[in-house]
Amino acid sequence: MTILPFDDRDGYIWQDGKFVAWRDAKVHILTHGLHYGSCVFEGVRAYGGKIFKLREHTERLHASAELLGFKIPYTIEELEKAQLDTLAKQNITDGYLRPVAWRGSEMMAISAQTTTIHVAIAAWEWPSYFGNEAKTKGLKLQMAKWARPAPNTAPTASKAAGLYMICTMSKHAAEADGFHDALMLDYRGYIAEATGANLFFMFGGEVHTPTPDCFLNGITRMTVMDLARKRGFKVVERHIKPEELKDVEEAFLTGTAAEITPIGVIGEHTYPVGSITKQLMEDYSALVNGA
Ligand code: PMP
Repeated sequence: MTILPFDDRDGYIWQDGKFVAWRDAKVHILTHGLHYGSCVFEGVRAYGGKIFKLREHTERLHASAELLGFKIPYTIEELEKAQLDTLAKQNITDGYLRPVAWRGSEMMAISAQTTTIHVAIAAWEWPSYFGNEAKTKGLKLQMAKWARPAPNTAPTASKAAGLYMICTMSKHAAEADGFHDALMLDYRGYIAEATGANLFFMFGGEVHTPTPDCFLNGITRMTVMDLARKRGFKVVERHIKPEELKDVEEAFLTGTAAEITPIGVIGEHTYPVGSITKQLMEDYSALVNGA
């Protein structure tokens, strides 16, 4: 499958308050965000022309920037309107939005106190992050070599670009070995998350998920916990050890891009795509599609 390069497409991108032609949406080489990781972003989905959890994603973008010490120069309302405008301008009803904010080029060293803060929003059609086969058969996850850092090592509650360095490396290693993605432990050795999604495990018919104390408390994660409770399942947030993977009955991951995707393999363990997973996938699909 050939993928159109992301810098060579038709359409428009919202950049610093106005629409620019997709191919002209550029930054300078000497951009602080590129050199030093002073960049935060969001991943947002629209279903049937409506943006799911728009307020939550937009607030998280603001919060992510503040955790990195900069303030986005647009209000929540302005950013919400810009996202809706981008979707309309791109003529997308079901798709993905990528708001991103970064420090500009006025300073080029560690200190970046007076850099301008830039914001852009792109939208495109993106049906399924892992492909449709994964949704029925389940993903294969490799145990990653990289661990999620401690909250005093990195701003772990921020959706900051720099935190994804070890995710790309872990995902590449997994793909090279024939897996779809990687499961990352945290700095203490507890199960944390996948490279771009949160994890859920069924134990004894209960729905367990790692405590998000050093990684993103995903918006999908919180939504799915609510859906599980509504179905009457006991939902448990706790520190989960890798030794417990042998006792897992079903597993899935959650994220805006990944939605709910079942997990069929983690390292040497295999799991069925079970009834709880299927039920929650149905419930999630009904919710995002406004049922
Ligand atoms: N963890 C990481 C590292 C992610 O990139 C994502 C996707 N944003 C998530 C978890 C899930 O977050 P959400 O459900 O808010 O998309």
